[in-house]
Amino acid sequence: MSATVFVIGSSNTDMVIKASKLPAPGETVIGGTFLMNPGGKGANQAVAAARLALISSDTGASPTVTFVANVGNDVFGRQALQQFEREGIRSEFISTDADEPSGVALIGVDSRGENSIMVASGANARLDQHQVANALASISEPASTVILLQLETPLPTVEYAIRQGYERGMRVVLNPAPAQVLDPAVLACLYAITPNETEAELLTSIRVTDETTARQAAQHLHTMGVPNVVITLGARGAYVSSAGSDTPPALLPAPPVTAVDTTAAGDCFNGALAVALAEGKALADAVAFACKAASISVTRLGAQASLPHRPEVDAIPL
Ligand code: ADP
Repeated sequence: MSATVFVIGSSNTDMVIKASKLPAPGETVIGGTFLMNPGGKGANQAVAAARLALISSDTGASPTVTFVANVGNDVFGRQALQQFEREGIRSEFISTDADEPSGVALIGVDSRGENSIMVASGANARLDQHQVANALASISEPASTVILLQLETPLPTVEYAIRQGYERGMRVVLNPAPAQVLDPAVLACLYAITPNETEAELLTSIRVTDETTARQAAQHLHTMGVPNVVITLGARGAYVSSAGSDTPPALLPAPPVTAVDTTAAGDCFNGALAVALAEGKALADAVAFACKAASISVTRLGAQASLPHRPEVDAIPL
């Protein structure tokens, strides 16, 4: 049986400036350093998954990673396609839009590693159901397929993918970022949802600050029909809760590191989680694996540039 991860989402070019502080409205901050990287939550998660989907000594499994996206007919789109090829990502369902430019993100990072991001979606805003339908039609082993989605592409396309994946017996994981209110009927089709604290608050109206409030938010999401809830809690790790499971909910700690840039931490976490699930790991083990991978990503500057390869993650003890 060949496991597959299908990431459906955005591809952007990230223009990153690291400076002493983030500018307030109307303020100019001078003295930063500049980096340009391919990014976008979808692309970041696809690259994270591809770098981690190597044959591992402990599982022997090696999922393929396919990315479904739209790029513009411009230099950024071509660079992104080349990057996906270098990373070993299957890209036959990535379209080049004739009219819209590739997506661009402007990212500021301060000296503490906090970030602030503006995105011009461009071609990402035209990822449609037809494209998703084509991609999902190619899947021959739904039971061993994990679909990973975020919210940087049109909501109707995301909702269509969730429903189709569910109906065909695939496990659908939604990283509900950036935060948006979602249709409860669609939430009930998910295998798992992976909000951070802000996103969990938007979805549940519960302010998540610690393990107790994470448990309350997870319970709320269970009552909305989501069987598995993983709330990422930054440096504290991730809270994992499965409805009706023998495994009790738990806060799985993040390995302690010195963070320099948290830009793609959530993306790294989600790509890693999808790979581990596709490999057949139990949810809690997959979350522990994702915490290890994401802890490496925060020690490095940039988005895709910060994403670790499998041997680096396997080298961190449990
Ligand atoms: P997002 O980037 O989406 O806001 P989080 O900040 O919750 O998400 O981070 C996602 C995951 O990245 C966390 O669950 C954790 O595993 C890891 N992580 C984030 N910040 C740190 C940190 N300072 N040290 C170690 N791991 C971290």
